[in-house]
Amino acid sequence: MPDRIYNFSPGPATLPQEVLAQAAKDIVNFNDKGIGLIELSHRSKEFMAVAEETEALLRELLNVPDNYKVLFLQGGASTQFAMIPMNLLGPGKKATYLNTGTWAKKAIKEANIIANADVAYSSEDSSFNHVPDQSDYTVDPESEYLYFVSNNTIYGTQFHSFPETDKMLVSDMSSDILSRRIDIKPFGIIFAGAQKNMGPAGATVVIIREDLLDRTPDSIPTMLRYKTHADKGSMFNTPPCFAIYAIGLVLKWLKKMGGVSALEEMNREKAALLYQAIDATDFIKGHAQENSRSMMNITFNLPSPELEAQFIQEGLAKGLDGLKGHRSIGGIRASIYNAFPRQGVLDLIGFMQEFEQKNG
Ligand SMILES: *Cc1c(COP(=O)(O)O)cnc(C)c1O
Repeated sequence: MPDRIYNFSPGPATLPQEVLAQAAKDIVNFNDKGIGLIELSHRSKEFMAVAEETEALLRELLNVPDNYKVLFLQGGASTQFAMIPMNLLGPGKKATYLNTGTWAKKAIKEANIIANADVAYSSEDSSFNHVPDQSDYTVDPESEYLYFVSNNTIYGTQFHSFPETDKMLVSDMSSDILSRRIDIKPFGIIFAGAQKNMGPAGATVVIIREDLLDRTPDSIPTMLRYKTHADKGSMFNTPPCFAIYAIGLVLKWLKKMGGVSALEEMNREKAALLYQAIDATDFIKGHAQENSRSMMNITFNLPSPELEAQFIQEGLAKGLDGLKGHRSIGGIRASIYNAFPRQGVLDLIGFMQEFEQKNG
């Protein structure tokens, strides 16, 4: 087996190596009970304890207030694009959306199938290279909520302060949940697919304010109602057991590392190192405007697509994997989530400098 490479993939993304090692052991023999983790009944007391611990850790690390439910659902973050308007908007109702990239656009499309999405801002004309300031848009007074994507995984932009409005906020935090401290109170719903910054693919975390559970119109099917899952502790049907377990391991690791505020500091430092390297040369151009730069996904271009292809290929040969930008914008993207090691960032910077010397 080769040494472990640096995985810059946007998701599924790198996980702490100790989490992988523990999961490998538990899959075969969970807690030395002579049964594999992924063979356990979801109703067994062993698995119930795993699920309870994962939820408790998430509540603790994110400071989730008592009047919010934490759900572990399937269907990916993408199913939430539809579930949110299904549950919060009846026919004839509307919600305001900020169009800051592909994932926002997909959510807008679903909202328009169910009800009416009022798009108050779009950065599409500038290839989604920034997120709006507060003063760039107004929220329709009739809107039920303001929806935004806190970190735009594909374009490498991030809201550094959240919108302020008297409407409740709803946010897709798939690619930056647990990367920085947040105040949950202004939010009606926060959701995140696990596979970016929280664990393996298969579970989507939904944090929902309890009073919203009773808003769902009667026409919405059982599995698509938040209340169904909230009433049964995410065990209405078989939950994504392995993903819930693995998220728990990641959260234990996160706690051991000092919690969200410690990770936030590390994330800031890792991202700053990379942006400094980008700013130090004209050979490399960052995609995101400076005040919108993401700490999680750093996007940049080299002088030509040919050089970018060569960069990706030579990087791979050096054990720097997953650097190819999303097909919709091309270029290079380095995803450096919580579990991405600082040394990998330093190695990437070294490689960028070496590449420029040879090709610049
Ligand atoms: C990856 C991603 C999604 C899609 O997640 P799935 O779980 O694949 O549906 C949605 N939103 C954001 C911000 C993402 O990064």
